[in-house]
Order: sequence, then C-alpha cells, then structure tokens
Amino acid sequence: MQHRVVVLGQEAVSLDRPVPREAPGDRFEAIESLLQGPPEAVLVAAEGQDCFFRASLAMERGVRKVVIRDGALGPAVLREMAVRARALGAEVFTHAREGNRYERIHAPKDAAAMEIGVPDLEAWSLASRQNRGQPDRLAELGLVVSAEERDAARQAAPLPIDTPVAGLPPRLEETAFRLGLKPVLYLVVPPDELEALRLRHPGAYLETIETSLREDASTGVRHYDVGPTTRHVFLAADPVLARAAARLWVDGSSRNVREIGRLMGYPECCVAAYATLRSRANNAGLVYVTSARTRALRASYHPLLGGSVVHLVPFTPCTYGCARAVSWALRLVGELAPATQSAVRRAMSRPVLYLDQGRAVAFEGVSHADTESVSFDRAVFIGGQDQSALHARHLFGWLLGGGGTLRLTDEAFELEAGGQARRRLRRGDPALGVLMPFASF
Ligand SMILES: [Zn+2]
Repeated sequence: MQHRVVVLGQEAVSLDRPVPREAPGDRFEAIESLLQGPPEAVLVAAEGQDCFFRASLAMERGVRKVVIRDGALGPAVLREMAVRARALGAEVFTHAREGNRYERIHAPKDAAAMEIGVPDLEAWSLASRQNRGQPDRLAELGLVVSAEERDAARQAAPLPIDTPVAGLPPRLEETAFRLGLKPVLYLVVPPDELEALRLRHPGAYLETIETSLREDASTGVRHYDVGPTTRHVFLAADPVLARAAARLWVDGSSRNVREIGRLMGYPECCVAAYATLRSRANNAGLVYVTSARTRALRASYHPLLGGSVVHLVPFTPCTYGCARAVSWALRLVGELAPATQSAVRRAMSRPVLYLDQGRAVAFEGVSHADTESVSFDRAVFIGGQDQSALHARHLFGWLLGGGGTLRLTDEAFELEAGGQARRRLRRGDPALGVLMPFASF
C-alpha cells in the first residue's frame, strides 16, 4: 500500500498526525514494505550509518524527498548524501527542531569520492601499493604486529586452509546463464579459453572485446592496459542483447551500470544499491559496504549471499538478507548435484571474519555469533596459498588456534578462552576486518 509519508528509524519524532513508521524490533523486510509505493517523502529518525543507509534505501526505492534531523550526519557524510540524492533524482532536507526549519542540502559540484561503511579507501590503496611485492607486509595489512608477536606467530601452527567444496562447476555464472537467470553472460577469459567456452554454449551468440588486465590481489581492483591479454566475452541467445551489453561496457561500465545490471539479470534493488557506490571497482570494499548496510538496515545474513567461501551470486546484493537475491541463489544451488548442494550450504553457513580478498577466516563448531563476537571450536583460513597467505595463516593461527571467543573492538581482535583474555592482534589503518555471522538456515 502506498503511504504519503513514512518514518524510518527508531528515534522519537513529533508529527501533527500519525504516519506509518518503523517499529522497535522491525527488520529489513518491514522497512522495505514501508517503502512500497513508494511514499512521497521519508523522515529518517536515526543518526550515523543507520540514518545514511535508510535515506539511501528510500531514494533507491524511488522516494523523492528525504528529511533527516539536523546534526544526524557529519558534514562530509551529509555531503555524500546530497551527491547520492542528485544521482538518484531526489532531494535531501535537514530539519532543525528549533524554529521548525527545513533546509535543502545541495551537492557541491566537485564533491570528492567518499564511501560510507568501508575502511579508509585512500589509506587502503596506499598501503596496498606500498607493500606490493612484500608478502609479510601484505599479510599484515590493516594490522599492527610487533616483532615479538611476529616471532610468536611464526612459531604457532598456521590455520588450516579451508577444504574447497567438491563438485562445483568452475564458473557458476555459466550455470546461471543456462538456467535463464541471466539474459547475457559476461566473462573475462584468457584468449585460449574462448573456443571451449563457445563449445559449451552452442547456439549462443558471442561478442568479444580484447584488453590487457591485471587484478590487484587484495582488493580485486582492475587495471587495464597492463598485464596479460584477456577477452571480455558477452554471450546471449539473442545477438541484440550481447551486442548491447558489449556496447554499454565499452561506453563505460560505470556510467551504464543500471542497464548492464538489467541485461545480466540481476535484481533491480541490488543494482540500484550497487549503482550508488563509489568504490564499485574494489571487490573487497563491496563486502564491507554490504555488511554495513545489512547491519544498519537490520537485515539477516543469509548464508547463500556471503561470497567469501563460494561466490554464488555474481552481483553485490543490496543487503545479505535481500529476498530477491536469495531466491536467485536458491535457484542456482537447486541446479547442483545433491551432494554438492549440501556441501555448499554447509560451507557457506559459517561465520566469516573478512579482511580482504586474500585473507578471511571461517569459524566452525560455533555456539554464538553476531557482528561483534563469535564463539567457536575451530577456525580455517580462506585465501591463497602463496607466501603472504602463509604468514597470514600463522598470524591467525597464533590468535585463534584452540578456539574460544573472538571479539572485534575498534582497537583489536581479542581472543578469550576458558574465561581469560588470551591474545590480541591490534588493528591499524585502514581498519580492515568485518565479522559476518552467516549461519545455517
Ligand atoms: Zn536486493
């Protein structure tokens, strides 16, 4: 049902008439249903990230006017809000209780890129650049490790590497394409794989573009015109769609993100959320921002949407609880052999501590997990097998080996076992590390 005005957030507001509003304990689904219609205006009664992501969600869902409390966001975040409003064709106002004043917030023309809910992107890319080629330094990115701690970690047993799920097709996107979940399949492949790809999809039309490509191991950021030659391939049953996708990509995948998302068959809500992001190129950053939205909007962490263990859905969900993304994932999983299905579900139903593309930890034997702490018997490492990964496994083996309760504070990762503080790993700049409490469903 369409409402004229709704209130999102939990803070008290005084209005001259009753309007529908988010109730205490409401989850993401309730917030989404309030936005159906969409309403003409949304008042956001929250502050910080709770405010920012509610306002953003409202605008992504087509709300044209958003009012937030004066002072609910700091000046930089408020500016980013206004930039986002301009991109989404909406208007943001602040309301000051004193004098009952409303003020329209305008986006400055040259607003600098900023992302809410992610580690400091500038510090992150600087640290990645400075530590390139230094495996131990890369393993310690975002952490502050003393020489004594480093020595102790080297003596400790490294975390075991997670056992990969057996029986998964090498490219799940091809399964999604065959299922009809995607009108267009887009892949980046080395030139010598092109023929095999063609043979796997007889009857599909292929449009290809050749570039050089190097991917940053930590963030997944792509650098074109350096690195090995790759083919960008667009496949579709309908040549018009394959050509359209290739043309939009050449024309600017950033500028055409919504149209490309539609051709790829991604849920509209997820594409709308993705389109607002500034750091779309940074795959690791996308994990942080999705987790921040999930927390702020009180969505659940559906295990099939967590991409650290198995990258099941090829798009960034609007939250880890998005019902449309979950049904995408369920259809895809339903296509796998029964033994693979249960292995995928088991592997993905574990809480994950995520640092970046090369370093994550999954927890097993879990008795409690939320976004701040996890109690577990055993931890396993998800990441590469190179020297940097080995040092990371030693560090996390030293911290987590033997199990206990891991707590994330702003300053450190702290492990408690047998009712005692055991070890801590200090966090640095950029503050990497997000705990995602995926659990079985
Ligand atoms: Zn969604």
